[in-house]
Amino acid sequence: MKAQNSEPIARSPGRIFVISGPSGSGKTTLLGKLLKSRELKNLLERSVSFTTRSARRGEKQGRDYFFVGAGEFRRKRREEKILEWTKYLGYYYGTPKDFVEERLRQGKFVALCLDTAGAKHIKRTYPAQAVTIFIAPPSLEALRQRIHGRGRETVKAEIKKRLGMAGQELKESQGYDHCLVNDDFKRALAELKGIVLKYKVNG
Ligand code: ADP
Ligand code: 5GP
Repeated sequence: MKAQNSEPIARSPGRIFVISGPSGSGKTTLLGKLLKSRELKNLLERSVSFTTRSARRGEKQGRDYFFVGAGEFRRKRREEKILEWTKYLGYYYGTPKDFVEERLRQGKFVALCLDTAGAKHIKRTYPAQAVTIFIAPPSLEALRQRIHGRGRETVKAEIKKRLGMAGQELKESQGYDHCLVNDDFKRALAELKGIVLKYKVNG
């Protein structure tokens, strides 16, 4: 029998769940809970991106992001350590290539929280493995309240910019495989879990 890690990625039973949605729609909170669910333990892992933005209150190096300088980000791109990258509100964000590809070779599930450009890139690169999920807020007003309530962005202008991006992001939700509205948290989590579990081989 062939060793599992020599399986070509194109035929891997692994899946990449790309989660997008406006800032404050609840991606991080929903994914955090999903990762703790009994049925997905040892199967689903979250990929931690590199970013040049600074850590918000409560964020930890290596857990939420790998916070790096612009020079280091450029070096990683040159060395092809970054699978896809984007510039969002002036900061760079990039997905670590080795982490994602290793998990796919092992037939595992990886979750990525990416902007809409990143989701399209992953879908093109791994058409057989990528599953795109859009998380929408119940309304723009709820989104505004959640970003304010989160209290992590200290700069008011930053909050305004994030809200300003939401309209365009919501328009792009139509191209996603799945779209869910995060109104009631418990219900949205159950829906997200249901989507991911559908791809689990042998139940
Ligand atoms: P994102 O990762 O999409 O930017 P977060 O997960 O940080 O969003 O969520 C933004 C804020 O909204 C957090 O304070 C979170 O606790 C809250 N939140 C998430 N889902 C809900 C929900 N269904 N109802 C009310 N508040 C929510
Ligand atoms: P935030 O600053 O709110 O953490 O992230 C801003 C946006 O960048 C969000 O839409 C988030 O999903 C996205 N993002 C985070 N990491 C990456 C990445 O590695 N690649 C891409 N394309 N988008 C990312």
